[in-house]
Amino acid sequence: MPSSTASTLRDLHLLHQRAKALRDRLTSGPKTLAARKLALETRQKALDDAKKALQDEKVAVKKHEHHLQSQQSKSDDLKVKLNAVKKNDEYKAIQNQLALDKNHMEKTEGEILEAMERVDEKTRLVAEAELEVKKFTDEVAALAKQIDEHAEAQKAQLAELDKAIVEAESLIDEEQRDRYRRTVKQRGADALASAEDGACSGCYVTLTSQVMNELINGQTLQFCMTCGRMLYLADAEQNTSKYGRS
Ligand SMILES: [Zn+2]
Repeated sequence: MPSSTASTLRDLHLLHQRAKALRDRLTSGPKTLAARKLALETRQKALDDAKKALQDEKVAVKKHEHHLQSQQSKSDDLKVKLNAVKKNDEYKAIQNQLALDKNHMEKTEGEILEAMERVDEKTRLVAEAELEVKKFTDEVAALAKQIDEHAEAQKAQLAELDKAIVEAESLIDEEQRDRYRRTVKQRGADALASAEDGACSGCYVTLTSQVMNELINGQTLQFCMTCGRMLYLADAEQNTSKYGRS
């Protein structure tokens, strides 16, 4: 059969199934994109946090350096004072203070070195995160473009299928068309099912011999009494009847 015409219920079912698959793809694309965008936001946030942490670390280095400078000038002042003192005990006290200050300054120098190492490490992390965010941003943009491009073709295909589905309603006897439409409205592509080996392929319940006979005679539309799907004969069981003709 041409891609968008139905001459049997089986064809019509196929049209409904293809329309459903297209609708699913049209909704799944934007969902995937939204999820990727959310993941990108999370990474962007992590990058911002890493930049902030790097900035804080740089401030900490500056503070330590400032502290060291004030310790040094305090010690320099004490050394000047030391040269001027006459009393021995005062001399000793200043010497002790200078020794304490020296320890203190060594400790501060160690802290500066450690903080600078952390600055290096955080600089590296920020650079990595920036690369990652850039790559991910490009990926998300490419995905958005791809989804847009596909959506256009998919919408055109869907419009064609919907048109063919409406045209195929002529397959259904007029007095049963309302029931057909209701069933399609409720169940979409699941509105139809083939009868295979004497059972409904939608719910797998065995069909009565009367329903099977009607299907083979093919004069009236048959519904599964269990699940309500409209029935047609599977390929192997098709004959030339109206609802089973291939
Ligand atoms: Zn059924």
